[in-house]
Amino acid sequence: MNAPAARAETAMSERPSLAGLTRAEIGEALRAFGLPEREIRMRTAQLWHWIYFRGVRDFASMLNVSKALRQRLDDAFTLDLPEVVEEQISTDGTRKWLLRLTPVDAHDKGAEIECVYIPESDRGTLCVSSQVGCTLNCTFCHTGTQRLVRNLTTQEIVGQLIVARQRLGDFPGRERPTDGLVPSGEGVRAVSNIVFMGMGEPLYNLENVEAAVEVMADGDGLSVSKRRITVSTSGVVPEIERLGSECGPMLAISLHAVRDDLRNELVPLNKKYPIRELLQACRDYPGASNARRITFEYVMLKGVNDSPAEAKELVRLLKGIPAKINLIPFNPWPGAPYECSDWETIERFSDIVFNAGYASPVRTPRGRDILAACGQLRSETEKLRARARRAVE
Ligand code: SAH
Ligand code: SF4
Repeated sequence: MNAPAARAETAMSERPSLAGLTRAEIGEALRAFGLPEREIRMRTAQLWHWIYFRGVRDFASMLNVSKALRQRLDDAFTLDLPEVVEEQISTDGTRKWLLRLTPVDAHDKGAEIECVYIPESDRGTLCVSSQVGCTLNCTFCHTGTQRLVRNLTTQEIVGQLIVARQRLGDFPGRERPTDGLVPSGEGVRAVSNIVFMGMGEPLYNLENVEAAVEVMADGDGLSVSKRRITVSTSGVVPEIERLGSECGPMLAISLHAVRDDLRNELVPLNKKYPIRELLQACRDYPGASNARRITFEYVMLKGVNDSPAEAKELVRLLKGIPAKINLIPFNPWPGAPYECSDWETIERFSDIVFNAGYASPVRTPRGRDILAACGQLRSETEKLRARARRAVE
């Protein structure tokens, strides 16, 4: 029998999902569900294993849980994840998913975020979002033009990794997609690395980001080591130390300019936390060392920040910081007020940085054809997406 749609929706939102929660949150949910205190730890560990290690999608698959309890769990909870509304696959294998989040109340139509997967021959990087949109307005970034903004919950951040791993066949016993674009082989993970470089400023949502990193790094579950998780910030100085001491993932700084007047323009947050303070926070970042370098991202904008003098100044500024420098060719988006530097200019810049002793890889733009490259993400409107793709092509 078909249940009326409205009823089905209410029923869905009344049953909270356990997928993406922290151990403490799962414990809390089980307590509220009426499970005796002495069982909470054991049941949490069981659920943890099935959700995060095995990647199962229903309670019925949890074979070491009694049938009766599986049924009761299923009556009270779901394992729902953000819904994939659209999947685009670039000619270079990059995948972009538009995800609709579960509505938080009756008025919420379900915010949308984007999440990007970038495969290489022996590894794969998942670029996750930490907010819907971004409150900062870096002038070269598409995400900053999106108006609707809210923080993602821990569950919504972790959910992006589970969705990706499910779709990529990256749980034990699952098959990779058959298109040959996802790395495979004995012991090769489809998602080996995670970067918080999607939509949003992670340090404006620090608590949830840290909790999500802990879930992602947990050795009994998703098990992505913190050395393979990078949090990128536009420079929220007071939170950098906290991120390092409380959680300790790898750090990336969106620097993009070597003078305050220019950085004020490109990354307006610089007016609050200027370059000198930002670099001091990097010098003090707990756990930074030559083996665990801080990445400095530098977007190459034609005629704006790409001169040899600026490359030399960059090297001077970073003296004493265990750093690597990531040059990002500017990725265009419709209406963007910049152009990407010429290839020779990027090479000249890169040579100066390299000759000063820094690794200076130029980030190959990936997924530009589907607007999945750095700074091109922006959810919201159907029309824009179609138009944007045409403009970039
Ligand atoms: N808000 C965080 C993380 C998300 S942005 C931050 O700013 O660091 C991820 C990276 O993409 C940042 O380095 C950002 O500066 C860069 N970026 C933004 N727009 C871009 C564009 N159009 N082309 C290339 N890189 C861009
Ligand atoms: Fe926000 Fe980062 Fe884009 Fe700046 S570059 S607007 S901080 S997402």
